[in-house]
Amino acid sequence: MNVGIIGAGQLGRMLALAGYPIGIRCLFLDRDAASPGGQVGEIIVAELDDVEQLNRLAAAVEVITFDIENVAVGALAQIRPDVAIYPSAEALAVAQDRLEEKRLFESLSIPTAPYVPIACEADLTLASRTLGRPLVLKARRMGYDGRGQRIVESEEGLKAAWRDLGNVPALAEGWIDFERELSLLAVKGAEGEQAFYPLVENVHGDGILISSSAPYEDGALQSEAEGWLSALLDRFDYRGVLTAEFFHTGSGLIANEIAPRVHNSGHWTIEGAETSQFENHLRAVVGLPLGDTSPRGYAAMVNLIGSMPQARELLRIPGVHLHDYGKEPRANRKLGHCTVVQADRQRLSERLQALRSAVGLA
Ligand code: AMP
Repeated sequence: MNVGIIGAGQLGRMLALAGYPIGIRCLFLDRDAASPGGQVGEIIVAELDDVEQLNRLAAAVEVITFDIENVAVGALAQIRPDVAIYPSAEALAVAQDRLEEKRLFESLSIPTAPYVPIACEADLTLASRTLGRPLVLKARRMGYDGRGQRIVESEEGLKAAWRDLGNVPALAEGWIDFERELSLLAVKGAEGEQAFYPLVENVHGDGILISSSAPYEDGALQSEAEGWLSALLDRFDYRGVLTAEFFHTGSGLIANEIAPRVHNSGHWTIEGAETSQFENHLRAVVGLPLGDTSPRGYAAMVNLIGSMPQARELLRIPGVHLHDYGKEPRANRKLGHCTVVQADRQRLSERLQALRSAVGLA
């Protein structure tokens, strides 16, 4: 089977790597020939909305998927109809727009942070009066890893922040005083079967994921989150991996956002689960049976951001698995990650401590 992946970032690279053992070959389309996917598969170099080149990709594969969210939905609609695209363009369109995402959560009675859509100055005043302090201003579109987002303390601050974002359509969100951030990865296959990974606990800094650990063991939260993800999968007639991020507060889970793709908070599944998120995504989109999502123990993942530590320093720590995406170092850029998996929590925390100090987090 051949799968076309729009975007050849590290997610695409890990998808392709997961495909080889099970007979799936991936071909990419990306605007940058030096993207990580190019280390493990061929890249058609083109803009992501180049319909002619998207159809060149389609001609070479049986199914198309994507590793980034900012794919032009209008261009997808012009891909030859005999090549399936999973997840659906409809799911992608909702995840691209924070306001649509909020409305989706509301329509399924999934709790979410209070918000005010921002389209003009008067909306800023309304937001400032109704949402309390601080406020988070988020551009409706094209935001990721904390980009297109500002935390403000006053109406004046909100106005300045909106100007700073270029007065683009946005939403102002009330501050959620969470205890921790959790995510849930779900996958839906060709026969409609659904599977869920255990909840993951995530730590962010400046809007960027720093580290994840799993499983986060709370049966009640797990089944509540699974119920919501199940409803989301059904709403879109979904195929593939869907990720939802939550704030965990004293009064339960609050949905922050969804990603219609494999996700950084699921990287631990490569070594830490029976079937990785990447393999399960591929299985789902090509129509193979889904794999077991059970954890193999306790796992922790640490992102390597901005600069790459010496591989030698990381690999001397027993049990560390290193993934180097082969990217040029740049501030706030995800360059790789490390995972440790252990049968018991105590051993995991010892190894994690050594790993954290090797990457300068301790
Ligand atoms: P997002 O781009 O929406 O995933 O936000 C990135 C990170 O910013 C989140 O993972 C949180 O750590 C933080 N954040 C976003 N929205 C809020 C909020 N309403 N209240 C508190 N923290 C937030």
